[in-house]
Amino acid sequence: MNTKILALFLAAIGACQAADKLNIITSTQDLASLVTEVGGDHVTVDSIAKGYQDPHFVEPKPSFLLNLRKADMLVVVGLQLEIGWLPPLITQSGNSKIQVGNAGYVDVSQFCEILEIPTTQVTRAGGDVHPLGNPHYWLNPENGRRIAKALADKFSEARPADKAYFAGRYADFDKRLTEAIKRWDAQMAPYKGRKIVTYHRSWPNFTEHFGLVVVDYVEPKPGIPPAPSHTLELINTMKRDNIKVIMVEPYFDLRAPNSIASAVGGSVAVLMPSVGGVKEITDYFKLFDYDINLLVSTFAKVK
Ligand SMILES: [Zn+2]
Repeated sequence: MNTKILALFLAAIGACQAADKLNIITSTQDLASLVTEVGGDHVTVDSIAKGYQDPHFVEPKPSFLLNLRKADMLVVVGLQLEIGWLPPLITQSGNSKIQVGNAGYVDVSQFCEILEIPTTQVTRAGGDVHPLGNPHYWLNPENGRRIAKALADKFSEARPADKAYFAGRYADFDKRLTEAIKRWDAQMAPYKGRKIVTYHRSWPNFTEHFGLVVVDYVEPKPGIPPAPSHTLELINTMKRDNIKVIMVEPYFDLRAPNSIASAVGGSVAVLMPSVGGVKEITDYFKLFDYDINLLVSTFAKVK
């Protein structure tokens, strides 16, 4: 075979393989990272929200619709995290595979441990409460494991011939995650029981896993911006309980957290809730590496 024909032949094989790849769209970059862990080069993946954006509010762009139109599968966080922007995109995509209830619509919350499920009727008076439970559940690495397992199963259903491939990728991820969790747990062990304040209720799964105690929030109610009376109360609570660290998501105004921290002689840690929050957080493992390193150095700074 001459080289020109060989090149054409290889290109044709490449095109076939590309055509056979599962085309996945995720709502967030955390999910995209887990899709890559399990799907490897048998999938293509793109995320709608970027990790530095507030996932409750994403500006729809026309390119999102084009991507959704071609998707084999849409993977979402669910629990109404994306309720403000995703439902119209799904409808307008006209792609029957990814409509809610169809096989290509994958809501991974159903496989995870969910906290803060309201036990009473939710009203708007309680603020912007997520009525189905806290949707920031990917911040417990054990939920990352559950999501990855669910993805391996979904991909295998869609591409039965690749079942062993996805199972192998999951097994490898599972092993690396177990090792990483051991390392993270060891780093956080000295701070077990440490009381902290967070801005939004983004961290219950994270703090529960790592044994931190969230005493209060900068937001007086979920989704409601800081108010002077609540801020004063918070300063008193933090002084009384000797709480020094405020965890803040990158897309919130730092003025209130900074002034509270300086009033109590504490420190603000701008932790990243998502992959892609800053450039160096390129995958699910680096997300925890970044947040835990920052938290540990913040705790060390405030004593
Ligand atoms: Zn939220």
